[in-house]
Amino acid sequence: MSFFRSFKFASISRCSKSLSSTNKRNIMTAGLDASKLEITKAENLKPMLPNDQLVFGKTFTDHMLEIEWTKDQGWGTPKISPYHNLSLDPSAVVFHYAFELFEGMKAFRDAEGKIRLFRPDMNMIRMNKSAARITLPTFDDEELIKLIEKFVSVDERFVPKGEGYSLYLRPTLIGTTASLGVSAPDRALLYVIASPVGPYYATGFKPVSLEASENLVRAWPGGVGDKKLGANYAPCIKPQLEAAARGHQQNLWLFGEEGYVTEVGTMNAFFVFEADGKKELVTAPLDGTILEGVTRDSILELCRERLPSSEWTISERPFTIKEVKENADAGKLVEAFGAGTAAIVSPIGNISWKGNEIKVPVGSEGTGELTKTVLDWIMGIQYGKVTFKNWSRVVQ
Ligand SMILES: *Cc1c(COP(=O)(O)O)cnc(C)c1O
Repeated sequence: MSFFRSFKFASISRCSKSLSSTNKRNIMTAGLDASKLEITKAENLKPMLPNDQLVFGKTFTDHMLEIEWTKDQGWGTPKISPYHNLSLDPSAVVFHYAFELFEGMKAFRDAEGKIRLFRPDMNMIRMNKSAARITLPTFDDEELIKLIEKFVSVDERFVPKGEGYSLYLRPTLIGTTASLGVSAPDRALLYVIASPVGPYYATGFKPVSLEASENLVRAWPGGVGDKKLGANYAPCIKPQLEAAARGHQQNLWLFGEEGYVTEVGTMNAFFVFEADGKKELVTAPLDGTILEGVTRDSILELCRERLPSSEWTISERPFTIKEVKENADAGKLVEAFGAGTAAIVSPIGNISWKGNEIKVPVGSEGTGELTKTVLDWIMGIQYGKVTFKNWSRVVQ
């Protein structure tokens, strides 16, 4: 009976929502419904690591959130249960054809002890875009945010205290259909795990040295480099190891014969040039070859709002490594950084390109001025010290 009830409810709410073609197959099945959540608490609680021993993505909280989906019935009962291994048929499509996508977002503890999510709505929009692209089921954004809030509340003791510390959340969606047929999965599993993490720059900024990859391409127009699909990441490790063997931490990903700058490692790339007595903050446009970073979007919006337009131009435009080199040669390269959830910003100190070493100014603290400023701005909002629009959502 309860299935019938949720069936009716969900189909009504689904029909009143957007009916894009990717959602259509869900119309007569259950939508994601946070009110159906079932919680099974862990009996054996994990030991807590002290803050200074937290390593990114190595230890996880006591619980996980899971929701199964089938083509026939739609989204099932959301469950929070003790952290556990998954049991999947070896033929499950996730293992063969990379039906997998993920998100990266964080929960923060503010000075009053309240827990806050930073722009979770942006992660949900992106997750649904990734899902639609690889024929995995889409879902109601707000319902998943509510479930993530419940999950974070259950494991709230793992949200570390202290600025720079946070609980990293990893929503994941996989196709679980047991079949070697290459087709749209009729079963899927959405799950969320969480890992407490420490500050990226515990011992001060460390500017990274980049190798601009000549013959390697991370993403291309019409491809899927703008989606957070697992399949985009495994191929990037070998180039990174090769760059590391030559003394560089990350790849600077270029595109096309012109050498358009796209991303740095798995972060969006920002450069500051001096031009006509003003400074220009430049990042590549969302043309399908770069990931739509939440940090990127936040930096652009904050800079447009807070930097005086008499002194700054904020540009989303194509730019090439040649332009970077020419600016550096003319003394007009001011600073450069990568941007992403894990570190927020990561100062760039050097770029190796076709045998040239392009030096990027980093100042005495190992970071450019704007890099430091945007880090402070974003952290201020994340930890609830400053209110900016609805960007920091207090977990209810
Ligand atoms: C996740 C990611 C980013 C950064 O996105 P945020 O939402 O800011 O964390 C940038 N580039 C790539 C390739 C990514 O996977």
